[in-house]
Amino acid sequence: MSSKVYFTDMRTKPGRNMYDKLNHLIHQAGIEELDMKDKLVALKIHFGEPGNLAYLRPNYAAVIVKKVKALGGKPFLTDCNTLYYGRRSNAVDHLEAAMENGFNRIAVGCDVIIADGLTGSDDEEIPVNLKHTKTAKIGSVIADCDVLISLNHFKGHEQTGFGGALKNIGMGCGSRKGKMEMHSASKPKIKEEKCVSCGMCIRKCPMKAIAYNENLNAQIDYKKCIGCGQCVAYCHYGAASAVYDQSAEILNEKIAEYALAVLKNKQHFHINFMMNISPDCDCWDSNDQAIAPDVGIAASFDPVALDHACVDLVNAAPGVSNSKLDDKGDYEPGGDKFVHVHPDVHWKDCLKHAEEIKLGSQAYKLIKVN
Ligand code: SF4
Ligand code: SF4
Repeated sequence: MSSKVYFTDMRTKPGRNMYDKLNHLIHQAGIEELDMKDKLVALKIHFGEPGNLAYLRPNYAAVIVKKVKALGGKPFLTDCNTLYYGRRSNAVDHLEAAMENGFNRIAVGCDVIIADGLTGSDDEEIPVNLKHTKTAKIGSVIADCDVLISLNHFKGHEQTGFGGALKNIGMGCGSRKGKMEMHSASKPKIKEEKCVSCGMCIRKCPMKAIAYNENLNAQIDYKKCIGCGQCVAYCHYGAASAVYDQSAEILNEKIAEYALAVLKNKQHFHINFMMNISPDCDCWDSNDQAIAPDVGIAASFDPVALDHACVDLVNAAPGVSNSKLDDKGDYEPGGDKFVHVHPDVHWKDCLKHAEEIKLGSQAYKLIKVN
């Protein structure tokens, strides 16, 4: 059975701007059907690594915040910390990065709460018993909220082909341990040549699995290590790092399984913003030329149908010249832009598995809203 996906393009006229169109879109898509009265409503978003300018504008989030408040809900913006070391790898830096990129109370009308705590260790285990995941480790703020609305910047992604609702929900709501589980078949490693022997990882490891070796460099005892990733979070010298050794297919399937865990027993609604369609993730501190022109906004209760509709919409749009499409050889107009720029990963894996585990339907009915 197909799911309904509502879509509005980027055309505006005096008296009807993109705020009006977004409001009309979410109304038509049925956001008012969510019971938000006095509920804690998480707006899951990616705040963008500072330096990246393709991330979703706070102005759009502000529209959704206003709507949630009008429906009696208590909205907040949220994301989990990153696995790698950067400007969003702990709650203090993450909040600062979010404010710097405009996600503050004045601009969006609500607060930001980092979902997995100060260092990414604050999570809840949600049992799902699926092919790769027995229990998903989800940021506790997201696990505890009553309603989840995902606001997704739709663009390319180097590990999943494209990044849309499923990526933002599945990978984005995983705590540090959850992200480790999705990305890696093995535990973190420490590069001796980069270790400055600061001792931070030794003090913070919850399993006391790290000690100095004979060279006075940190070394992990893998018999004790549980793969929580705290050493990665605390190492400011890039010596402790996650091992990204999961095949793209398994990574994509795990993301679908985590997304199911996040949405299990929860009211949810999803909005994809197909604008500034950069070839890679907003986690980079720069954004390359968009590979497609701005296409519009789509919304649905079904994140699988939504992502499928959006990949089709973006692929149907003309490609942008002097972008990564050109770098990667002859791009055929009408071809699959995401496979072209990321030939080693295939976005179909995630959607296929998401449908198999009954997270949603790949079949959709696109309803145009003006
Ligand atoms: S992953 Fe966690 S348990 Fe393993 S060494 Fe690092 S901090 Fe310790
Ligand atoms: S935190 Fe990093 S630099 Fe410090 S001891 Fe551990 S691995 Fe070495």
